Amino acid sequence: MAVTSHTFAENQAAASNHLARFASSPLGHFINGRTTEVAGAETFASNSPIDGAELGQVAAGTATDIDDAAGVAADAFAQWSGTPGTQRKAILHDVADLIEERAHQIAVTECVDTGQTMRFMSAAALRGAANFRFFADQAPSLADGQSLPTADHINYTTRRPLGPVGVITPWNTPFMLSTWKIAPALAAGCTVVHKPAEWSPYTAHLLAETATEAGLPPGVLNVVHGLGEQAGKALTEHPAIQAIAFVGESATGSLIQAQGAPTLKRVHFELGGKNPVIVFDDADLDRAVNAATFMIYSLNGERCTSSSRLLIQETVYDEVVKRVGEKMVAIPVGHPLDPSAVIGPLIHPRHHQKVCSYVETARNEGATVIEGTPWADAPTAGNWVAPMLFADADNTMTIAREEIFGPSLTAIPFRDEAEALAIANDTEYGLAAYLWTSDVGRAHRVARDLEAGMVWVNSQNVRHLPTPFGGAKRSGIGRDGGDWSFDFYTETKNVAIAFDTHAVPDLSAGRS
Ligand code: NAD
Repeated sequence: MAVTSHTFAENQAAASNHLARFASSPLGHFINGRTTEVAGAETFASNSPIDGAELGQVAAGTATDIDDAAGVAADAFAQWSGTPGTQRKAILHDVADLIEERAHQIAVTECVDTGQTMRFMSAAALRGAANFRFFADQAPSLADGQSLPTADHINYTTRRPLGPVGVITPWNTPFMLSTWKIAPALAAGCTVVHKPAEWSPYTAHLLAETATEAGLPPGVLNVVHGLGEQAGKALTEHPAIQAIAFVGESATGSLIQAQGAPTLKRVHFELGGKNPVIVFDDADLDRAVNAATFMIYSLNGERCTSSSRLLIQETVYDEVVKRVGEKMVAIPVGHPLDPSAVIGPLIHPRHHQKVCSYVETARNEGATVIEGTPWADAPTAGNWVAPMLFADADNTMTIAREEIFGPSLTAIPFRDEAEALAIANDTEYGLAAYLWTSDVGRAHRVARDLEAGMVWVNSQNVRHLPTPFGGAKRSGIGRDGGDWSFDFYTETKNVAIAFDTHAVPDLSAGRS
């Protein structure tokens, strides 16, 4: 049955069935193809964002656990990196098949673990499978390089997998994001130690389990749960780990760069954003309003590419704010397993408190706060939130500068193209930008001058896997997608072979 065609009751029954195992005994790490024993080890509680109830205890990884996992990944590297690309491709397609088979289990687990709604998580599980297929298909040709001949030498390049790598992920869409990093690493022939976010541990475990059952050899994908400052830090410092692929906050990226410096870690960072969506008065306003609304209120606004600053030309400012506001108050907030809900509870009480605190900040700074419709039946102990719109803001306000990472949109008027660009670029971030206009020349000019890794013109974020994904400024280092992912997970080698026609200097010649 398609993931999206289940009823609320069916989703609830599936969730209690699939999550029962996590409640009954503490969850261990996944190392060398099996779940580790937890007895005697330190654990931490994983709580439901829906009602605050404890979902289970999870092993809190230590430097010793990381050392075990890194050792296993290093041992497995010799075999996996030597496995022909065609075989890696076949295994990774088998992984994708099994993810698709378990898409409903993965989706309901993700909903309960993160508070993200089924409406989006059903697609997220399938996107995970698509990531595996896309990168698997490139495994056979991955080592292909260039031929760069000169008169006296033939040079050819080739690529070799880097070694065991660390993957550290956040909690917003954990399953999809993990596959986005892990699939290209495995396709490249690297082995992986994954440290998932402590607020959303479960689908990382399902991924490792599913991949192993599908035929991924033991030790190729390992998971160590735990806190960032302990397990995460130990992973970034481990000498056997050649690189760290990290998705998370910009401040954590800085820490990881420092922690990895002594071992000269290669790093790939996908970090925060404060992304502008610019609406000019010649835009198709129906489409622009829907897209701007979608890009901030989908996925609970816990989305790195969310359009959190809405820059509107002053001639249509009132109209656009009114229309976005009308749509926002109509967005259904509800239980994440209810197929009709769009916004669910936020991940954690701490994050909830942070997101909600911006309402007062917005009022204090002089913005107009328009509040959405909360869910009347929301369990009181959950991290429930209604969408919010901060109008009449300017770009100096805290609500226009800090990444809120919730369903919260800041609307700012601008006069003309130059001012729109100046406001859009006046941020420390540079992940994504969106612009709406019917003027082709302006679309090209503004897209060229926006300081962002990705620009969508007259569109919401529609991801095409062969294109580069990543940010400028404090939003990231490196690009994912297409062949860019493989550049990170491989080492490029040049081989120069002489035709035996060039002069070889004889340093002893001329000595009397
Ligand atoms: P976070 O930086 O707090 O945590 C991310 C991960 O890093 C977690 O697994 C955490 O345990 C680990 N970590 C924390 N401290 C560490 C340390 N010292 N050493 C090693 N690991 C450590 O981020 P978050 O709050 O989980 O996620 C939200 C952030 O992620 C937002 O800023 C969002 O924009 C960003 N994000 C970016 C993208 C992107 O593609 N650019 C995608 C999704 C989320």
